Amino acid sequence: MTEARRRRIEEVLRRRQPDLTVLLENVHKPHNLSAILRSCDAVGVLEAHAVNPTGGVPTFNETSGGSHKWVYLRVHSDIQTAIGHLRELGFRIYATALWEDAQDFREVDYTGPTALLLGAEKWGVSEEALALADGAIQVPMFGMVQSLNVSVAAAVILFEAQRQRLKAGLYEKPRLDPELYQKVLEDWLRK
Ligand code: SAM
Repeated sequence: MTEARRRRIEEVLRRRQPDLTVLLENVHKPHNLSAILRSCDAVGVLEAHAVNPTGGVPTFNETSGGSHKWVYLRVHSDIQTAIGHLRELGFRIYATALWEDAQDFREVDYTGPTALLLGAEKWGVSEEALALADGAIQVPMFGMVQSLNVSVAAAVILFEAQRQRLKAGLYEKPRLDPELYQKVLEDWLRK
């Protein structure tokens, strides 16, 4: 481990946002999962969440650019458990859905604890998850095709969250409590 590598790790960790995350409901294609984790890494998500249709460990591919090493992924047994876990941690959960009552994603405040719920490539967010979420947001669409690729929708919204958080100064000082910071640092230094 060079000094430069250690410095880079600490610099990235100081910008991690423990109160911004995604919850992936049955997003099963490895390239989508990988691309979402890559965007998560870029905006500073510490830990992402998933409910996996196969019940197994989700798989990544080269699209991740190695980001799955730097964004923890917690897999939950089902959507109720996942949402319950996030709610207990104080997250506000926004379902992303092309639903007529969904708000324009730019109208929402992402500076508080926020989880973006993203749905399966074919079916979208389930009705059950939509009912459990605190609100629904959408990226307005004016084209012939009805929806975006899930990883694109995730990126667009995550970078709006990054924009708001930059403005609010949330990347200026470490957001992890010292105990967690130390634990993650030790883990990352071993990678
Ligand atoms: N037919 C599905 C539906 O009606 O939801 C399309 C699913 S879309 C390909 C997969 C996921 O990408 C959605 O569940 C949502 O999370 C996200 N998504 C795609 N386009 C979106 C948009 N314009 N606004 C918000 N989320 C979007």
